[in-house]
Amino acid sequence: MSIKTAYISKLGKDYQISRNFALKEMQCKDGSDMVLYSSELLEKLEKLRAYGGFTVTINSGYRTVAYNKKIGGASNSQHLKGAAADIVVKKDGKIVNAKLICCLCQTLGFKGIGYISANAVHVDMRESGTYRGDERSDYRSNVGNDFYSYFKIALSVIEKLKIRTTAKEEDEMTQEQFDQMMENYLARLKVKTPSDWSKEERAWAEKNRLIIGDAEGNKQYKAYCTREQMVMLLYRLYQKIKGE
Ligand SMILES: [Zn+2]
Repeated sequence: MSIKTAYISKLGKDYQISRNFALKEMQCKDGSDMVLYSSELLEKLEKLRAYGGFTVTINSGYRTVAYNKKIGGASNSQHLKGAAADIVVKKDGKIVNAKLICCLCQTLGFKGIGYISANAVHVDMRESGTYRGDERSDYRSNVGNDFYSYFKIALSVIEKLKIRTTAKEEDEMTQEQFDQMMENYLARLKVKTPSDWSKEERAWAEKNRLIIGDAEGNKQYKAYCTREQMVMLLYRLYQKIKGE
């Protein structure tokens, strides 16, 4: 587990600890200068954010021992290591139901997940084991390791939250893929049967050895002509005219 130690006074409150999260967001609510944060936790929060095009607000990130005691947090709380965050997730300004977020966080691989309320979820990246809790009733209550069955939510409901940017990514191809497709396309053109209307002209060109064909005997009538090939044609034609 990579727990980082940072100081607001050194790096500034707006220092980016991940692509979309600033140091101040993990800072303890008591305003302490030192901030601990887990880069694994931030990585997961970024994944959550990207999944649905959500905004993720951290209500409580790192907690000092004194602050954790004051608010009645568990003595072994992951917040003490900066490995936990109590979050509110919004989509287009509206809070996404925490039951859905619990399920999604389970799918995304958060180690600890607690249903705090309809609006808030506790997530953490503890070093060993997992935690699934319904914190409304009993702090330690375990939901049986599966929020989907606990809340009776189908996987398809969670999949619907996913934004369609991945479709765009799928459409985009690499240069290599494009080259390969282009090569395939050109190879198909080479062996395509020519049209009837050019029959006479083709016979003439072949008879006069302007069109010879490749090693496989393909005359390549439907293929594109490069300048290189055009020059060859002109040369052969010129030789033919000169010879007559
Ligand atoms: Zn928490």
